[in-house]
Amino acid sequence: MVAPKTLITGASTGIGAIYADRFAKRGHDLVLVARDLVRLETLAAKLRQETGVNVEILRADLTAEADLAVVEAKLRDDAAITTLVNNAGATVAAAFADQGSADISRIIALNVTAVARLANAVAGRFARAGGGTIINIASVVGLVPEFSMSVYGATKAFVLFLSQGLQVELGPRGVRVQAVLPGATSTELWDRAGADAAKLPPMMDAADLVDAALVGFDAGETVTIPPLPDAKLWDSYQTARQAMLPGFGNTLPAARYRT
Ligand code: NAP
Repeated sequence: MVAPKTLITGASTGIGAIYADRFAKRGHDLVLVARDLVRLETLAAKLRQETGVNVEILRADLTAEADLAVVEAKLRDDAAITTLVNNAGATVAAAFADQGSADISRIIALNVTAVARLANAVAGRFARAGGGTIINIASVVGLVPEFSMSVYGATKAFVLFLSQGLQVELGPRGVRVQAVLPGATSTELWDRAGADAAKLPPMMDAADLVDAALVGFDAGETVTIPPLPDAKLWDSYQTARQAMLPGFGNTLPAARYRT
């Protein structure tokens, strides 16, 4: 039997590297995507040796059009790939007014454009096959404008919405979609963002985060929030949102807006 194959972006370290370990231990062959070739090769060698799975490496800067196109083509053309983990992401530890246009473009290219395009690259093939999995790593920040991480939070709100929308569109065709919303997690993300180490919040261990996310995945969740103690709060939030839906189709403005 052919082993399922999982492509993971941002697999060179952090949450993505843990996903690589966990999917290898589940018997999946892997395609590891990131920019740091040395780290990818080191992880690939370790996983091959420890688990015996096949591990391919695809060096790509997902903010670069040509590299993104190569990863899209891989996802489109390699029929053995049955799972995509859209994990690569980044932020900048500066207030919105202090962020440069290059930072904003880079964060949106990585956290939004690449995520949507890579999901799109597998969507048609998965739907035609009647199966496949897309795991998108969002963030609790996407639910919390109060954190003053406006661009990063907006990109993660996009990832959550995209995941929920794709589950609606592709779920009936046999495709599984999961959005994972980590809280603060102990990885290099904060250092890369230029965050002040003295001001960092307490962090969840990345291995605990991924293992919890996979429990949510195995339970069939579309949205998994590992640090949230009371899952009913999320359900209530969705119920409150859906209660607004009938009003959205009204053809006259609501009474409070009439002059
Ligand atoms: P991380 O340790 O900084 O790892 C980020 C990964 O993305 C690395 O493998 C990095 O590899 C890759 N990457 C960064 N820029 C890239 C680019 N331009 N092209 C290709 N790959 C790129 O961060 P992490 O915490 O594991 O983040 C993983 C995901 O979790 C992200 O989507 C992040 O937003 C999300 N998340 C993290 C936290 C947290 O507190 N850590 C909380 C909520 C959500 P290379 O440098 O080798 O390219």
